[in-house]
Amino acid sequence: MQWENLTSLDFESAVQSCGGVGLLPLGVVEPHGPHLPLGTDMFEAHAVACRAAEQEPVIVFPAYPFGINHESAHLPGSLVLRRDLVLDLLENVCDEMARHGLTRIIIFSGHGGNRFLIPLFVQTLIEKEKDYVVYDAQVSIPEDAAGVLDTLETGHACEAETSVMLHLHPDLVKMEQVPPAPFTNLARSASLQEVGAYSTMDWYAMYPVMYVGNAAPATAEKGRALVEPRVAGLVEIIRRVKTDDVTPVLQREFLARTRRPTAPDFWTKGS
Ligand SMILES: [Zn+2]
Repeated sequence: MQWENLTSLDFESAVQSCGGVGLLPLGVVEPHGPHLPLGTDMFEAHAVACRAAEQEPVIVFPAYPFGINHESAHLPGSLVLRRDLVLDLLENVCDEMARHGLTRIIIFSGHGGNRFLIPLFVQTLIEKEKDYVVYDAQVSIPEDAAGVLDTLETGHACEAETSVMLHLHPDLVKMEQVPPAPFTNLARSASLQEVGAYSTMDWYAMYPVMYVGNAAPATAEKGRALVEPRVAGLVEIIRRVKTDDVTPVLQREFLARTRRPTAPDFWTKGS
């Protein structure tokens, strides 16, 4: 169920019926070639989250566009927030979800550029000693798990993402504005990437026009085939989080121990 569609009167019972689990779909506002809307990643994350919630009840936070997308600051319409603000806002939102009883929060990103943000947020939230748990939903499905794509080069505003948007929001896709030619990785940082040297120019060195491959063969049917496994993967994560009786207990235990670190008996006694 969607947070913004509930009434205040119904909210508490909704939290109970979801087992106190909230789902925060995280997107961004950034250019997706010349043919997809700026909110593509936000729409995708929210739609997949809502579909998963239909199969496994969970309260879905409203569509959220405040992720990390410094790589797209050079193009019109990109909304780039400062990193400190992004982290603070995310924490504030999680605090609010927990204040209303959603003490298990799953963050689900629809934007590749959030791949460092969410693990960092989840990893370091322990320093704030929260009384809730946050999970990063790393739904790991290859882009073309369904084997439906005609092109191999994908990753942004490509055949895959355009198909997904034709399936989810066909009214917002302008196929007549798909670039007249495919765009192939410029690979300007290839020698660095080959040996694992990452820099802030990583993405710009590859795809400065924020368009990958060829979106022309995209179809809504392909999009449906790509979305379904993602929904299924997220549903499974929600189910395991609901029955997770380990993490909340360990988090409390760990926090108690961090207040007064002691050497484990195992080091000297072996048990
Ligand atoms: Zn995208």
